[in-house]
Amino acid sequence: MRTASIVATFCTALFAAVPASAQRPDLILHHGKVVTVDEKFSIAEAIAVRGERIVAVGKNEEVLKTKGEKTQVIDLAGKMVLPGLMDSHVHPSSAAMHEFDHPIPEMLTIADVLKYIEGRAKVVPEGNWISIRQIFITRLREQRYPTKAELDEAAPKHPVIFSTGPDGMLNSLALQISGIDKDFKVTGNGLIEKDPATGEPTGMLRSCTRYAKTDVNKSAATGKRATSAEKLARLAELFHDYNSVGLTSVCDRDSSSGAIADYQALHEQGNLSVRMMISQGIDAQSKLESVQETIKKVAAHPLRKENSRLRIIGIKCYLDGGMLTGSAYMREPWGLSKIYSITDPRYRGVLFIEPEKLLPIVRTTVESGLQFTAHSVGDGAVTNLVDAYEEINKTTPVRDTRPCITHCNFMTAEAIDRMAKLGVNADIQPAWLYLDSRTLHAQFGEDRTRYFQPLHTLFEKKVIAGGGSDHMQKIGSLRSVNPYNPFLAMWTTITRQARWYEGKMHPEEALTRAQAIRFYTMNNAYILFLDKEVGSLETGKQADLIVLDRDLLTCPVDDIKETKVLKTWLEGKLVHDADKK
Ligand SMILES: [Zn+2]
Repeated sequence: MRTASIVATFCTALFAAVPASAQRPDLILHHGKVVTVDEKFSIAEAIAVRGERIVAVGKNEEVLKTKGEKTQVIDLAGKMVLPGLMDSHVHPSSAAMHEFDHPIPEMLTIADVLKYIEGRAKVVPEGNWISIRQIFITRLREQRYPTKAELDEAAPKHPVIFSTGPDGMLNSLALQISGIDKDFKVTGNGLIEKDPATGEPTGMLRSCTRYAKTDVNKSAATGKRATSAEKLARLAELFHDYNSVGLTSVCDRDSSSGAIADYQALHEQGNLSVRMMISQGIDAQSKLESVQETIKKVAAHPLRKENSRLRIIGIKCYLDGGMLTGSAYMREPWGLSKIYSITDPRYRGVLFIEPEKLLPIVRTTVESGLQFTAHSVGDGAVTNLVDAYEEINKTTPVRDTRPCITHCNFMTAEAIDRMAKLGVNADIQPAWLYLDSRTLHAQFGEDRTRYFQPLHTLFEKKVIAGGGSDHMQKIGSLRSVNPYNPFLAMWTTITRQARWYEGKMHPEEALTRAQAIRFYTMNNAYILFLDKEVGSLETGKQADLIVLDRDLLTCPVDDIKETKVLKTWLEGKLVHDADKK
């Protein structure tokens, strides 16, 4: 709040010191429904912008009075204005390049997968690999892997791998090239499934796709290599697409040094059309001393300086596996499962960082003044991270570093209470509720999904939760994986309805419409250290705002997900205009 009020005082002083004409707004929007998302969630009629800042918010007459000769005036005719939306969790640098080589269709069924492979077999030279990655079987209609025979039929002359995380299905040629036969033995983690009758590998590699020799013939592959100019151009394209759905701030939740350099280059060109906050990815699997050294290096990076356009806010690592691959770390056993192929009744998932190592990693991060966050999907992982924050808080208060937990898909009432007490925030992905409720409810049942994305409870207990997409593939807000359309996400949090799923996923955890808006604006502003500058429409703040084609607070609930953004301003500059498309 401090900067905002200083700026406000400064502006008033300026108004008094120089002729009024020089201080007229550049832009006034009036006769609208301006949802300010201030403390009281006040609704105003008009808003004025000068340069990059908001200079007035209020009633039509009041704001229109400030109009000058050169002020651009837009009559909103009742339309809704919101603060620019914010996504707490994206992976833009890989997402932007995902289709650089060729377009990848949406795959919802095994037939879609096989059709794509057949198509690739026509253009990829024989003998070269065809790889399909991160098509989660839990999101396929059939909820299974394609079989070896199906892959053989689709591409008999190419080695094929269909993999999600460390699991994968190979066709016959892929097995042969990789030297995997009935006598093959796994060392360390993983299992190569064999047919009980013949002893031959079925093609399924559980937690051991490392044995697939996908590097063979790689040099002869058809894949194009992008120049750095092409990479920046695709990033710029993606950011403009973010703007087109109202996003003006995002957080890269696992940034590499290369990606950070790209964002810097784009910013220097004047082409970074979003505020980019960065959680730098660190490899927590290396030795503790070297992890701690990396954290200190991140803390000393020039981009640590306070900056609302491009800034490193902290670090991110991975605490457990995923719920789409059956490896999230749970407090109770997962239970036997055909879809997830779980045969051990005691299996609780995979924990990547033991508590003894997690504690010093989090401590170093907190002591370096950085925000810590970790991918924590299961309630076991969430609890372990809360334990670490609580322990550190005994000697070093954690609240000011805005400590975070990423995903928080499965929580407990107790973890939420402790997060509230410590000032721990949650970075949550409604797209997963939308896409994965069908599988998760079938696996865990009603009781164990009680605290699945428990947004209502988080709001009630005053844990600050921010919405994010975990966008990792493709450009396009609804065709991307995961979809980054914030209106689909808001609708999901309000209705708790999901794809291919009847009924509602614990509707007692639904957000109100106002809360859903806060989830994508002010709450993220706080989590991303941007709350002094953006997140709400208040005098003195940066002018990040959007105009919508409908009223999110009163339209029929199912219309929320169809919302279109008419205009988006970032720092007072128009970065999206639906009329000019
Ligand atoms: Zn992610």
